[in-house]
Amino acid sequence: MNKYWHSLHFRYTVSVAVLIVLIFSGTYFAYSTFSEARTKTSTHLKNNQELSDNARKIRISVLDSYTYIDAYLLEPAYKEYKQHALNSIHTAISSSKDMLEEVSTMVRIDTIAIEQLTFLLNELKVQTEKLFLSREDSYRQYPSLAVGNDVMQPNRNAFNNAIAVALNEMRQEKKDRNSPGVYQEFIQTRHLWTQVLSNFRLYLANRMGSFDESSLPVQEKAIETMYQQLLKQLQKLAALDQMGELGFESGAAVQDMIKAGNGWFNGFKQVKKIHNADGWRIDSKIMKEDIVPLINRMSNLLLQVESQINHAVEEDMKSLVTAAHKQTNMLIWGAGAVLLFVLIIYVSTNRLVFRPIATVVKALKAEAIGKDGVLLPSVRSRETTALVDAFNEMAKRVHQRQSDLEHQALHDSLTALPNRTLLQDRMAYHIQSARREHRHLSLLMIDLNRFKEINDTLGHHIGDQVLIEVGHRISSQLREVDTIARLGGDEFAVVLPDADKEQAKLVCKKLLQAMQTVLEIDELHLYVGMSIGISSYPEHGIDVTTLIQHADVAMYVAKQNQLGCAIYDATKDEYSLGRLELINDLKEAIDNDNLSVQYQPSINMGSDEVKGIETLLRWNHPEYGILPPDQVIDLAEQTGLINPLTYWVIENALKQTTRLFEKGYELEVSVNISVYNLKDKHFVENIKEIISRYPIPTEKIILEITESAMMANPVRAAEILSELDEMGLRLAIDDFGTGFSSLAYLKQLPVDELKIDKSFIIGMKENSSDEVIVHSTIDMAHNLGLEVVAEGVETKEIYNHLKDFKCDTAQGYYMSKPLPLDLLEIWLDNFGVSQSFDDVLG
Ligand code: C2E
Ligand code: CA
Ligand code: CA
Repeated sequence: MNKYWHSLHFRYTVSVAVLIVLIFSGTYFAYSTFSEARTKTSTHLKNNQELSDNARKIRISVLDSYTYIDAYLLEPAYKEYKQHALNSIHTAISSSKDMLEEVSTMVRIDTIAIEQLTFLLNELKVQTEKLFLSREDSYRQYPSLAVGNDVMQPNRNAFNNAIAVALNEMRQEKKDRNSPGVYQEFIQTRHLWTQVLSNFRLYLANRMGSFDESSLPVQEKAIETMYQQLLKQLQKLAALDQMGELGFESGAAVQDMIKAGNGWFNGFKQVKKIHNADGWRIDSKIMKEDIVPLINRMSNLLLQVESQINHAVEEDMKSLVTAAHKQTNMLIWGAGAVLLFVLIIYVSTNRLVFRPIATVVKALKAEAIGKDGVLLPSVRSRETTALVDAFNEMAKRVHQRQSDLEHQALHDSLTALPNRTLLQDRMAYHIQSARREHRHLSLLMIDLNRFKEINDTLGHHIGDQVLIEVGHRISSQLREVDTIARLGGDEFAVVLPDADKEQAKLVCKKLLQAMQTVLEIDELHLYVGMSIGISSYPEHGIDVTTLIQHADVAMYVAKQNQLGCAIYDATKDEYSLGRLELINDLKEAIDNDNLSVQYQPSINMGSDEVKGIETLLRWNHPEYGILPPDQVIDLAEQTGLINPLTYWVIENALKQTTRLFEKGYELEVSVNISVYNLKDKHFVENIKEIISRYPIPTEKIILEITESAMMANPVRAAEILSELDEMGLRLAIDDFGTGFSSLAYLKQLPVDELKIDKSFIIGMKENSSDEVIVHSTIDMAHNLGLEVVAEGVETKEIYNHLKDFKCDTAQGYYMSKPLPLDLLEIWLDNFGVSQSFDDVLG
């Protein structure tokens, strides 16, 4: 596990998995809580809605029933009112039953209230039915009527009878005549009774008809007062009876009257009581005492239920809101958690990936500009470890390669000694410290004698060994602080810090002595001599270039005079002074056309006909006379004049060859090209431009490039040769055999001819190895499809020899020396006639 944990990839995968789980579970949890609450609430709301619908229905039905009851009470003739009222109550009852059913599933609503409501509705039904019954029956409707009938009417009848009996008796006994007062009293009594009764009738009519309710108490009072008078009258009669003033029947009638009156009055009192109470009309009593309170109670209950419903709705809304809150909170927390997680990932990525990468990038940059001591990131993960390891590995290798390259750039590959660049560096350094400390410094230029011979005769392999061994020899004689360098070819140089020219001379002697011991190489015993030139700081120069130049001059002097060793002598330095003049002269000569060319013909050995001519530079210096072209070219190469010079030669060669063409000599024309020309970016372009101005076909133009020139920069040479080849020009390798190139290498180039160096051809007559080399070179070149030109053919024997070797072309003094154009023309004319070189010109 620990192993995995160090992998960023593993951590990344785990983090992503955790994040996904976090997001999914959070979302699911939030969703499920809310959806549960929502489902619950929506069911509740639906139930509550139904409940409150039913409650409203009940309320409306109850109100309807009330309205219809009222209407019916006013208009009992409309029976449909009654029916409507009862129907409404039925509707309410069934709604309440529905409610009861609905509410049984709900928690927050009180069942008792609805049960009560149902009960009250049933009660309403009972009361209403009772009301309707009493409205249809006037006795029930008006309870006082019953009292009138049951109590008052018998008493009234009894009273009427009694008074009729009394009056009848008196009339029979003629009482009125005997005692007219008593009769009168009875009449009066009857009158009062009638009064009471008619007042009562009036009162009753007023009550039932409700004509003038305000007069009811007055009427009641009047009846009572009249009844009191009647009672007094009766008491008076009773007193008369006591006194025996009345007959038997009359006396009894008085007693009856008192009794009946009393009974009636009692009835009246009941009626009055009824009338003064609400129950005088039973329907309004039922309305007032039963139905209205019932309706009120129901209304209250409904209010209660409705408020419970509302409360439940509120609760549900609250729980919904709570769930929403919960969900929001959960989302906020979830988002917070994700953010935190992302933050942690960000921080750790920053620490584990970006910062290490940035540090490695910094280290890479530092490495690129070669700065040292860059801190690498402290390693935390497998990936950074790998990165840091890779970086270290790379840095190590780059350093190695760099130091290899540095070494290569500053050292000679053959001898591993410092090269010219390093020598110059060291010299500059030593000159600086010598200047500071007022000391001397000497430079030795060493050139081996006869080295070319060794190379030519024993081969490059031996030559190379010689150079290495000489390097060892020289080094063995030097101090630690001295620097030995190989400058190229057989040239060495030694810097001797803190040594004046005399001390340098001693070192020279030591070196020459050391070289007197034989060199044993591959069982060969060789003696290699050398020439040494000395220049000293500050006497012979105070800068690197001057010191090298002067040591060179001294070395040249030593070689010329076979001195072994020479110290620079300014008076003998004509060469160096003259050189400067020459450069200027050459520049002028190019500009003023003061140069000339000569042409050396070559012979096609198969047909013995003239094949072509080689253009060779000639400079007739006004002071020094004709200068050797090798030296002129050397000078031009070193001063950059080689480009204008080459173009000048080509231009002139083409101009003059055109003349030959016009005369019918359609010969091939060769021009020599220097290695420095290949460095000219516009070389191909310029050549193209020049040849475009002359009518000579490109396949008649041959460019000769020395083998060593080609080897100096093989890539560039190959490039340029291809371009020239594409133009249709012919290409020849000059001085073949003096360089180090193999035929295999040349095979890859678009070359047409191989010119074997004249040293091999000249040497052929004495040196059999040269002959072998020439023969085998011709064969190999033919195998590669190259034509072979032999240079330096000086004698007839060699010419014939070469013919035997199947050499294609011959060039040399035997046929003709290089000739100016006019002489060449004569030569060509003569050659055409004689066909024999011996006779031509001489
Ligand atoms: P090279 O290209 O090998 O030219 C042939 C040289 O051999 C010529 O020397 C020629 O006079 C000489 N030679 C010809 N036949 C014989 C012979 O039978 N025996 C002997 N011993 N020598 C013979 P030259 O004219 O002195 O030219 C020397 C070199 O200078 C040329 O060698 C060539 O490398 C260079 N050179 C001459 N003219 C030009 C030029 O216009 N441009 C360049 N870049 N180099 C040139
Ligand atoms: Ca040549
Ligand atoms: Ca040559």
